[in-house]
Amino acid sequence: MAWRHALLLTPAASDDLRDDFSDTFTDIDPAAPALSVGELSTQRGDGIFESIGVIDAHPQEREAHLERLAYSAKLCDLPSPNVEQWRQAITAAAATCPAGESVIKLILSRGVEHGPAPTAWVTVAEAADNRAAREHGARVATLDRGYDSGAPVRAPWLLLGAKTLSYATNMAAIREARRRGADDAVFVSSDGLLLEGPTSSLVLRHGDRFVTPAPGVGILHGTTQLSLFTWLEGQGYRTGYEQLPIDALHEADAAWLLSSVRLAAGITAVDGEPLPYDQAFTASVNAYLLSPRD
Ligand code: PLP
Repeated sequence: MAWRHALLLTPAASDDLRDDFSDTFTDIDPAAPALSVGELSTQRGDGIFESIGVIDAHPQEREAHLERLAYSAKLCDLPSPNVEQWRQAITAAAATCPAGESVIKLILSRGVEHGPAPTAWVTVAEAADNRAAREHGARVATLDRGYDSGAPVRAPWLLLGAKTLSYATNMAAIREARRRGADDAVFVSSDGLLLEGPTSSLVLRHGDRFVTPAPGVGILHGTTQLSLFTWLEGQGYRTGYEQLPIDALHEADAAWLLSSVRLAAGITAVDGEPLPYDQAFTASVNAYLLSPRD
Protein backbone atom coordinates (compact mmCIF):
# COMPACT_ATOMS: atom_id res chain seq x y z
CA MET A 1 0.00 0.00 0.00
CA ALA A 2 1.40 3.39 -0.95
CA TRP A 3 0.63 6.62 0.86
CA ARG A 4 -0.61 9.34 -1.44
CA HIS A 5 -1.25 12.37 0.71
CA ALA A 6 -1.93 13.64 4.24
CA LEU A 7 -3.48 16.74 5.74
CA LEU A 8 -3.43 18.01 9.32
CA LEU A 9 -6.57 19.89 10.37
CA THR A 10 -6.80 22.59 12.99
CA PRO A 11 -10.20 21.49 14.32
CA ALA A 12 -12.82 24.24 14.07
CA ALA A 13 -15.64 24.62 16.58
CA SER A 14 -18.85 22.98 15.39
CA ASP A 15 -20.64 26.37 15.31
CA ASP A 16 -17.97 28.01 13.10
CA LEU A 17 -20.02 28.82 9.98
CA ARG A 18 -17.34 30.22 7.66
CA ASP A 19 -17.57 29.12 3.98
CA ASP A 20 -13.96 28.21 3.41
CA PHE A 21 -11.89 26.09 5.80
CA SER A 22 -8.89 25.63 3.51
CA ASP A 23 -6.67 27.75 5.77
CA THR A 24 -7.21 25.16 8.55
CA PHE A 25 -5.57 22.41 6.43
CA THR A 26 -1.82 21.84 6.33
CA ASP A 27 -0.39 19.44 3.76
CA ILE A 28 2.11 17.10 5.39
CA ASP A 29 4.43 14.42 4.07
CA PRO A 30 2.54 11.15 4.76
CA ALA A 31 5.82 9.24 5.07
CA ALA A 32 7.36 11.62 7.63
CA PRO A 33 6.76 11.79 11.44
CA ALA A 34 3.88 14.17 12.22
CA LEU A 35 2.43 13.48 15.68
CA SER A 36 3.60 14.50 19.13
CA VAL A 37 4.89 11.75 21.44
CA GLY A 38 2.14 12.86 23.85
CA GLU A 39 -0.62 11.95 21.35
CA LEU A 40 -3.45 10.15 23.15
CA SER A 41 -4.43 8.33 19.97
CA THR A 42 -1.11 6.50 19.98
CA GLN A 43 -0.79 6.25 23.77
CA ARG A 44 -4.32 5.02 24.48
CA GLY A 45 -6.11 4.53 21.17
CA ASP A 46 -8.28 7.40 22.40
CA GLY A 47 -9.90 8.74 19.28
CA ILE A 48 -12.19 7.89 16.40
CA PHE A 49 -11.82 7.37 12.68
CA GLU A 50 -13.57 6.72 9.37
CA SER A 51 -12.29 4.88 6.28
CA ILE A 52 -13.84 6.11 3.06
CA GLY A 53 -13.57 4.22 -0.23
CA VAL A 54 -12.59 6.42 -3.16
CA ILE A 55 -13.30 5.36 -6.74
CA ASP A 56 -11.77 7.43 -9.53
CA ALA A 57 -11.31 10.37 -7.13
CA HIS A 58 -14.97 10.18 -5.96
CA PRO A 59 -15.34 9.70 -2.18
CA GLN A 60 -18.14 7.17 -1.62
CA GLU A 61 -20.95 7.84 0.87
CA ARG A 62 -19.31 11.01 2.18
CA GLU A 63 -22.33 12.20 4.16
CA ALA A 64 -22.93 8.82 5.84
CA HIS A 65 -19.29 8.76 6.97
CA LEU A 66 -19.56 12.33 8.30
CA GLU A 67 -22.70 11.40 10.23
CA ARG A 68 -21.00 8.38 11.77
CA LEU A 69 -17.92 10.45 12.67
CA ALA A 70 -20.20 12.86 14.57
CA TYR A 71 -22.03 9.96 16.23
CA SER A 72 -18.75 8.33 17.34
CA ALA A 73 -17.54 11.70 18.70
CA LYS A 74 -20.71 11.98 20.76
CA LEU A 75 -20.35 8.46 22.21
CA CYS A 76 -16.72 9.22 23.09
CA ASP A 77 -17.35 12.68 24.62
CA LEU A 78 -15.11 14.27 21.99
CA PRO A 79 -15.91 17.82 20.78
CA SER A 80 -18.49 17.71 17.95
CA PRO A 81 -16.64 17.77 14.63
CA ASN A 82 -17.32 20.75 12.37
CA VAL A 83 -18.98 18.74 9.62
CA GLU A 84 -18.43 21.36 6.90
CA GLN A 85 -14.70 21.50 7.73
CA TRP A 86 -14.39 17.70 7.44
CA ARG A 87 -16.48 17.72 4.24
CA GLN A 88 -14.05 20.20 2.67
CA ALA A 89 -11.08 18.15 3.93
CA ILE A 90 -12.51 15.05 2.20
CA THR A 91 -12.96 17.03 -1.02
CA ALA A 92 -9.37 18.31 -0.81
CA ALA A 93 -8.04 14.81 -0.12
CA ALA A 94 -10.10 13.21 -2.91
CA ALA A 95 -8.78 15.78 -5.39
CA THR A 96 -5.31 14.22 -4.92
CA CYS A 97 -6.51 10.70 -5.88
CA PRO A 98 -5.74 9.28 -9.31
CA ALA A 99 -8.08 6.97 -11.26
CA GLY A 100 -8.66 3.61 -9.56
CA GLU A 101 -9.29 2.84 -5.91
CA SER A 102 -7.97 4.79 -2.93
CA VAL A 103 -8.85 5.09 0.72
CA ILE A 104 -9.28 8.28 2.71
CA LYS A 105 -9.04 8.03 6.49
CA LEU A 106 -10.41 10.69 8.82
CA ILE A 107 -8.88 10.61 12.30
CA LEU A 108 -10.00 12.65 15.29
CA SER A 109 -8.04 12.06 18.49
CA ARG A 110 -8.52 13.39 22.01
CA GLY A 111 -5.27 15.25 21.37
CA VAL A 112 -2.00 15.61 23.19
CA GLU A 113 -1.65 14.80 26.87
CA HIS A 114 -1.96 18.13 28.79
CA GLY A 115 -3.28 19.82 25.61
CA PRO A 116 -3.78 21.11 23.02
CA ALA A 117 -6.82 19.09 22.07
CA PRO A 118 -8.11 17.54 19.89
CA THR A 119 -5.84 16.47 17.01
CA ALA A 120 -7.27 15.79 13.57
CA TRP A 121 -5.81 14.55 10.34
CA VAL A 122 -6.73 12.95 7.03
CA THR A 123 -4.68 10.43 5.08
CA VAL A 124 -4.97 9.22 1.50
CA ALA A 125 -3.53 5.87 0.44
CA GLU A 126 -3.77 3.48 -2.45
CA ALA A 127 -6.44 0.85 -1.66
CA ALA A 128 -5.39 -2.78 -1.29
CA ASP A 129 -6.28 -5.12 -4.16
CA ASN A 130 -9.55 -6.65 -2.93
CA ARG A 131 -10.51 -8.52 -6.09
CA ALA A 132 -9.96 -12.00 -4.59
CA ALA A 133 -12.42 -11.44 -1.71
CA ARG A 134 -14.95 -9.72 -3.99
CA GLU A 135 -14.85 -12.51 -6.58
CA HIS A 136 -14.23 -15.63 -4.49
CA GLY A 137 -15.64 -14.65 -1.11
CA ALA A 138 -14.44 -15.37 2.41
CA ARG A 139 -14.67 -18.28 4.87
CA VAL A 140 -15.64 -17.07 8.33
CA ALA A 141 -15.23 -18.33 11.88
CA THR A 142 -17.84 -17.26 14.43
CA LEU A 143 -16.16 -15.81 17.52
CA ASP A 144 -17.64 -14.89 20.91
CA ARG A 145 -17.22 -11.15 21.46
CA GLY A 146 -17.46 -11.72 25.20
CA TYR A 147 -20.32 -9.24 25.81
CA ASP A 148 -24.04 -9.96 25.90
CA SER A 149 -26.41 -7.96 23.72
CA GLY A 150 -27.44 -5.77 26.69
CA ALA A 151 -23.87 -4.54 27.27
CA PRO A 152 -24.08 -1.38 25.09
CA VAL A 153 -26.95 -0.01 27.20
CA ARG A 154 -25.71 -1.34 30.56
CA ALA A 155 -22.09 -0.23 30.02
CA PRO A 156 -21.92 2.67 27.52
CA TRP A 157 -18.28 3.32 28.53
CA LEU A 158 -17.36 0.25 26.49
CA LEU A 159 -18.07 2.55 23.49
CA LEU A 160 -19.65 -0.33 21.57
CA GLY A 161 -21.08 1.22 18.42
CA ALA A 162 -18.40 3.95 18.15
CA LYS A 163 -15.70 3.62 15.49
CA THR A 164 -12.80 4.12 17.88
CA LEU A 165 -9.11 3.80 17.08
CA SER A 166 -8.86 0.84 19.48
CA TYR A 167 -8.90 -1.95 16.89
CA ALA A 168 -6.35 -4.26 18.55
CA THR A 169 -9.06 -6.74 19.58
CA ASN A 170 -10.63 -6.63 16.10
CA MET A 171 -7.24 -7.48 14.56
CA ALA A 172 -6.73 -10.24 17.14
CA ALA A 173 -10.08 -11.73 16.10
CA ILE A 174 -8.98 -11.88 12.46
CA ARG A 175 -5.76 -13.65 13.51
CA GLU A 176 -7.82 -16.13 15.55
CA ALA A 177 -10.14 -16.73 12.58
CA ARG A 178 -7.05 -17.51 10.44
CA ARG A 179 -5.77 -19.95 13.07
CA ARG A 180 -9.15 -21.69 12.70
CA GLY A 181 -8.66 -22.02 8.94
CA ALA A 182 -10.97 -19.14 7.97
CA ASP A 183 -10.31 -15.79 6.25
CA ASP A 184 -12.34 -13.54 8.52
CA ALA A 185 -14.50 -13.54 11.63
CA VAL A 186 -18.12 -12.91 12.57
CA PHE A 187 -18.61 -11.76 16.15
CA VAL A 188 -21.43 -13.29 18.18
CA SER A 189 -22.73 -11.86 21.49
CA SER A 190 -22.32 -14.08 24.55
CA ASP A 191 -26.12 -14.60 24.45
CA GLY A 192 -25.89 -15.98 20.91
CA LEU A 193 -26.80 -13.06 18.60
CA LEU A 194 -24.96 -12.33 15.37
CA LEU A 195 -23.12 -8.99 15.46
CA GLU A 196 -20.62 -7.95 12.74
CA GLY A 197 -17.20 -8.75 11.36
CA PRO A 198 -14.11 -7.13 12.95
CA THR A 199 -13.99 -4.68 10.01
CA SER A 200 -17.32 -5.25 8.28
CA SER A 201 -21.11 -5.50 8.58
CA LEU A 202 -22.97 -8.77 8.12
CA VAL A 203 -25.92 -9.12 5.72
CA LEU A 204 -27.92 -12.35 5.30
CA ARG A 205 -30.29 -13.35 2.51
CA HIS A 206 -33.35 -15.44 3.24
CA GLY A 207 -35.30 -15.80 -0.03
CA ASP A 208 -36.05 -12.30 -1.29
CA ARG A 209 -35.45 -10.70 2.10
CA PHE A 210 -32.11 -9.28 3.23
CA VAL A 211 -31.47 -8.73 6.93
CA THR A 212 -28.68 -7.34 9.08
CA PRO A 213 -28.27 -7.27 12.87
CA ALA A 214 -29.98 -4.23 14.44
CA PRO A 215 -27.32 -1.63 15.43
CA GLY A 216 -28.61 -1.47 19.05
CA VAL A 217 -26.63 -4.61 19.93
CA GLY A 218 -23.43 -2.56 20.01
CA ILE A 219 -22.17 -2.70 16.44
CA LEU A 220 -21.26 -0.04 13.92
CA HIS A 221 -23.97 1.02 11.53
CA GLY A 222 -22.19 0.25 8.26
CA THR A 223 -22.32 2.87 5.51
CA THR A 224 -21.94 0.14 2.88
CA GLN A 225 -24.81 -1.92 4.33
CA LEU A 226 -27.03 1.19 4.40
CA SER A 227 -26.21 1.96 0.78
CA LEU A 228 -26.75 -1.67 -0.25
CA PHE A 229 -30.18 -1.77 1.41
CA THR A 230 -31.26 1.32 -0.56
CA TRP A 231 -30.12 -0.36 -3.78
CA LEU A 232 -31.80 -3.67 -2.89
CA GLU A 233 -35.08 -1.89 -2.12
CA GLY A 234 -34.84 -0.21 -5.54
CA GLN A 235 -34.50 -3.70 -7.06
CA GLY A 236 -37.74 -4.78 -5.34
CA TYR A 237 -36.19 -6.77 -2.47
CA ARG A 238 -37.28 -6.44 1.14
CA THR A 239 -34.75 -5.46 3.82
CA GLY A 240 -34.80 -5.36 7.59
CA TYR A 241 -32.90 -4.95 10.87
CA GLU A 242 -33.36 -7.83 13.29
CA GLN A 243 -31.99 -9.61 16.29
CA LEU A 244 -30.48 -12.62 14.54
CA PRO A 245 -29.52 -15.82 16.35
CA ILE A 246 -26.40 -17.62 15.15
CA ASP A 247 -28.56 -20.25 13.35
CA ALA A 248 -29.81 -17.52 10.99
CA LEU A 249 -26.32 -17.49 9.45
CA HIS A 250 -26.13 -21.27 9.06
CA GLU A 251 -29.62 -21.27 7.50
CA ALA A 252 -29.08 -18.28 5.17
CA ASP A 253 -29.46 -18.65 1.40
CA ALA A 254 -26.40 -16.40 1.14
CA ALA A 255 -24.46 -13.98 3.34
CA TRP A 256 -21.96 -11.18 2.86
CA LEU A 257 -19.43 -9.13 4.79
CA LEU A 258 -19.66 -5.51 3.70
CA SER A 259 -17.22 -2.65 4.18
CA SER A 260 -16.26 0.61 2.54
CA VAL A 261 -13.00 -0.46 0.92
CA ARG A 262 -13.24 -4.25 0.41
CA LEU A 263 -16.97 -3.85 -0.49
CA ALA A 264 -18.97 -7.13 -0.62
CA ALA A 265 -17.27 -10.44 0.18
CA GLY A 266 -19.68 -13.37 -0.08
CA ILE A 267 -19.40 -15.82 2.82
CA THR A 268 -18.52 -19.25 1.44
CA ALA A 269 -18.23 -21.23 4.70
CA VAL A 270 -19.13 -20.80 8.37
CA ASP A 271 -16.96 -22.65 10.91
CA GLY A 272 -15.93 -25.07 8.17
CA GLU A 273 -19.50 -25.72 6.91
CA PRO A 274 -20.11 -24.55 3.31
CA LEU A 275 -22.67 -21.78 2.76
CA PRO A 276 -24.37 -21.22 -0.63
CA TYR A 277 -22.40 -18.59 -2.54
CA ASP A 278 -23.97 -16.67 -5.45
CA GLN A 279 -21.05 -15.35 -7.49
CA ALA A 280 -23.19 -13.63 -10.15
CA PHE A 281 -25.35 -11.80 -7.60
CA THR A 282 -22.27 -10.81 -5.59
CA ALA A 283 -20.72 -9.43 -8.78
CA SER A 284 -23.82 -7.27 -9.37
CA VAL A 285 -23.66 -6.01 -5.77
CA ASN A 286 -19.98 -5.08 -6.20
CA ALA A 287 -20.70 -3.40 -9.55
CA TYR A 288 -23.22 -1.22 -7.72
CA LEU A 289 -20.82 -0.56 -4.83
CA LEU A 290 -18.09 0.45 -7.31
CA SER A 291 -20.38 2.98 -9.02
CA PRO A 292 -20.26 6.61 -7.78
CA ARG A 293 -22.37 6.85 -4.61
CA ASP A 294 -23.21 9.94 -2.54
N1 PLP B 1 -18.22 -2.92 11.56
C1 PLP B 1 -16.93 -2.69 11.87
C2 PLP B 1 -16.42 -3.13 13.21
C3 PLP B 1 -16.08 -2.04 10.97
O1 PLP B 1 -14.81 -1.80 11.29
C4 PLP B 1 -16.60 -1.65 9.71
C5 PLP B 1 -15.77 -0.97 8.71
O2 PLP B 1 -14.82 -0.36 8.94
C6 PLP B 1 -17.93 -1.92 9.41
C7 PLP B 1 -18.72 -2.55 10.36
C8 PLP B 1 -18.50 -1.55 8.08
O3 PLP B 1 -18.66 -0.16 7.97
P1 PLP B 1 -18.56 0.60 6.57
O4 PLP B 1 -19.47 -0.12 5.63
O5 PLP B 1 -19.04 1.97 6.87
O6 PLP B 1 -17.15 0.55 6.14
